[in-house]
Amino acid sequence: MKIICDWENCKNIGAYKAPIERDNSKRFRLLCLEHIKIFNKNWNYFENMNDQEIEYFIKSDLTWHKSTKKFGSSENFFSILWNNALEDKLNIFGGSNYKDFKKTKISQTDKDALQVMDLNEDAKWEKIHSKFKELVKKYHPDKNKGSKKFEDKLKIITLAYSQLKKTLGKK
Ligand SMILES: [Zn+2]
Repeated sequence: MKIICDWENCKNIGAYKAPIERDNSKRFRLLCLEHIKIFNKNWNYFENMNDQEIEYFIKSDLTWHKSTKKFGSSENFFSILWNNALEDKLNIFGGSNYKDFKKTKISQTDKDALQVMDLNEDAKWEKIHSKFKELVKKYHPDKNKGSKKFEDKLKIITLAYSQLKKTLGKK
């Protein structure tokens, strides 16, 4: 007896195991080659989310309004996440809500550092880096007849830059 692919409306033979729950690989359904590929793509996509994306995903309305279950246990958390991944509902990070969310994720220390460098809170690393070079040129003591005032300013800017490099620099 041949087992038919479990994908909706698919009539191919299901020869590949796809786990039903992320944290319980004992339960699985059988899919054809075409659909196991789609399944794996979604799986990997989820795996590649960074912490911030996962946090947003958890908070997102897209995650919760689909489910009638209460969010109380990690089991529910994974099944909701998992179902969304399978339904390919993950194209939410390009939206403006996610951009707003990202904006609010910045720490007060980083906010202060950006302010020191005269940058907006949503400044990207490239921008921070080029602004730093610009400021170094502007405030370098060699360019300001060894002025103590400019030297101190440059020290503060360098501290701010180091701080931002820690949190935003290596991505
Ligand atoms: Zn199939």
